[in-house]
Amino acid sequence: MQEFGENIQQAHDEKLGRHLVASISIEPGDTILEERPLLVAPHWECHQLKCAQCLQESYVICRRCQVFPLCMDCSQHDEFECEFFASGAGKALCKDILVKNFGICGLLKLLLLLENPNTQADCQMLIGVPINLGDYRDGEGMWQEHEELVVRPLMECGLVDCLPTQQLTSDILHAHCIRIDSNSFEVTAKDGDTLKGVFVWGATLPHHCVPNTVVALDEQFNMKLYAAVPLQPGDIIYNSYTNPLMGTSQRQHQLRLSRRLECTCTRCLDPTEMGTHMSSLKCKECGGFSVCEIDSNGKLGDWRCPDCKALLTAAEVHELQAEVGSALVDAMGDLQVYEALLTQYGPLLHPNHFMLLDIKQNIASILRAAALMTAMDQPCKKLLARRVELCSDLLPVCRAVVPGISKLYAIGLFEYLLALVELVELQFAESDLNKKEYVAHLKTASLVATEAMDLLRFEPENSAEGYLADRISMELERIESDLKKYGR
Ligand SMILES: [Zn+2]
Ligand SMILES: [Zn+2]
Ligand SMILES: [Zn+2]
Ligand SMILES: [Zn+2]
Repeated sequence: MQEFGENIQQAHDEKLGRHLVASISIEPGDTILEERPLLVAPHWECHQLKCAQCLQESYVICRRCQVFPLCMDCSQHDEFECEFFASGAGKALCKDILVKNFGICGLLKLLLLLENPNTQADCQMLIGVPINLGDYRDGEGMWQEHEELVVRPLMECGLVDCLPTQQLTSDILHAHCIRIDSNSFEVTAKDGDTLKGVFVWGATLPHHCVPNTVVALDEQFNMKLYAAVPLQPGDIIYNSYTNPLMGTSQRQHQLRLSRRLECTCTRCLDPTEMGTHMSSLKCKECGGFSVCEIDSNGKLGDWRCPDCKALLTAAEVHELQAEVGSALVDAMGDLQVYEALLTQYGPLLHPNHFMLLDIKQNIASILRAAALMTAMDQPCKKLLARRVELCSDLLPVCRAVVPGISKLYAIGLFEYLLALVELVELQFAESDLNKKEYVAHLKTASLVATEAMDLLRFEPENSAEGYLADRISMELERIESDLKKYGR
């Protein structure tokens, strides 16, 4: 199922439970863990039938069992799954259980893995973890979603009676749904659709907002975990389950909802968020920056200016954040509105504040899409220059929040590279830049491309990041050939 490298070992303590630690010094890029998923399943709300074998879109049903979908490329799926409905205990069940309720697919696959004597043992680590259903029953949305899309249809289709040894009740099915969700990583099928891959070892990695590893997932749904930074013997292996471009209050909110976790990692306890000031506000009194006061349990308090000691209460800050948040929702992709928001809120916040970064990312992606659409027409130099500026603003933050080998920073560099090359090519073509200036920009672009490729060199070839590396390498070739043409 999973293969540990010799460089890690299992450990256990009260706070983290079962986890992994480095057993020797580990270099950045070294593989720590490789794991095949226990199962890959569509999201609960997925209605498009997916091939039981490769998870691509499917329009045919397996002729033998007449239950599981297949695609044009696959002629069979898991033998036990097929046999169960073709001639086993599930033979008498209505054949359209999946066609009618495709949401049950993931749980059905798990129940059959549990029924199959050859795979039962693989599931023990997943189902051995007790789930306190009381924590979930009244929770927002999730329980209801499981109930309607998965548990009720499964209880009603008669499958439960075909699996008597599992003694299935609706509570047990709910617990299985929660286990699938909480052990899932988003994986991408060959056709580009996202799915849930259940990785029991991968999911035991404790959370840190500054992870020391990178998770790579390829099109065959294999997981490879590698070190992002040098690790010393005894170092705990961490992953991050949140977006590093969120501020501390946002990350903590998300972690509370998704993992029932109160994070007290180094970033969460650092009011400057690793020097980025992603949650800092402009001090109204002295023009410095107010930072959040955080206690040792990671609880956020008021904001105070370290220079003049002026206070901004937590309530005032939350009100401002809620105001910007709802303005962002109302902006609905309108470029002018986003720019107006930057003008309005820029003077109140640190330039790296997470909400300003959010607005800037929105603008940059609109400009990128616009550049693609008008590629044939004359793109506006002013907008291209704006995109370069925004992409370059994001770079130092991306660099700071994910140290070492970072996909986030690599993607940031790629976005900056595309914007820069597009701009300087146009400026050169229109003689705004002379040859010497153009060459200087191309040299910068070449360095940016090389750095981005370097950060992606441990990614599998058949993954989204692998394809991105190919794309950057093509861009680099083009830059180098121009450099040859116009002289270095
Ligand atoms: Zn297939
Ligand atoms: Zn079949
Ligand atoms: Zn944290
Ligand atoms: Zn001040």
